[in-house]
Amino acid sequence: MKRNKIVAGNWKMHYGAEQGREFAAELRKNLLDTPGVQIILCPPFLALGPVSEVVEGSAIKVGAQNMHFETAGAFTGEITGAMIRETGAEYVILGHSERRHVFGETDDMIRQKVNRSLIDGLIPILCVGEKIEERQAEQTTKVVGSQLAAGLQDVGAEDMKKVLVAYEPVWAIGTGLTASPEQADEVHRFIRTELASRYGAEIAELIPILYGGSVKPDNTGGLLSNKDIDGALVGGASLKVDSFTGIAEAAAALI
Ligand code: PEP
Repeated sequence: MKRNKIVAGNWKMHYGAEQGREFAAELRKNLLDTPGVQIILCPPFLALGPVSEVVEGSAIKVGAQNMHFETAGAFTGEITGAMIRETGAEYVILGHSERRHVFGETDDMIRQKVNRSLIDGLIPILCVGEKIEERQAEQTTKVVGSQLAAGLQDVGAEDMKKVLVAYEPVWAIGTGLTASPEQADEVHRFIRTELASRYGAEIAELIPILYGGSVKPDNTGGLLSNKDIDGALVGGASLKVDSFTGIAEAAAALI
């Protein structure tokens, strides 16, 4: 079965409302030759509304980079899924390695966020990935498998059809080091097998699994031509319209 390609840009803590609007407008003009590729922009919270307005009526979708798992309360600095939904955003990145390893998010917090995002009508992009020392100790599948199992612990088969998974080896994020297509493919196949054992082969085949870690226009084709690599979650190279467009075009060339 053929899944659509997806290219998501994680802007991290870059671009507020004004710059976000400008970026989205330019991207919208640029993206004329990428049919069949779903583009998702994930700006900081303050730019979600402005970016959503600019891309409305186009094929570009918008996502947040995080959310809280409660619906309201004394959680200074946090934001709910319902608030994100109100901006027009439809996706939310959850369990990004910076959330896990810089801000101390646990598997259990990520599990709750995944559950809440689905209740709130958002599509979660659940990120999993090993650190370099875990890869060197041949623990990659153990780590990825347990992050996946924890994040999806309460997700039933119907909801699973809405979820996206992103494999992002921590050692490849923002470092310029990319997993080779073979290394990435091996973990993507492992993830799909895990999903199949939990949800059955039919549902596992529906689920987009993105790769993230120093994706650039010139390595996109090699990575995404693997059957189980359905797209890219892009950090640094998503911050320039040209490089992000280049990645989308490289993905479109595979369709
Ligand atoms: C990311 O942060 O999700 C990411 C993949 O970053 P980069 O592309 O810069 O490695």
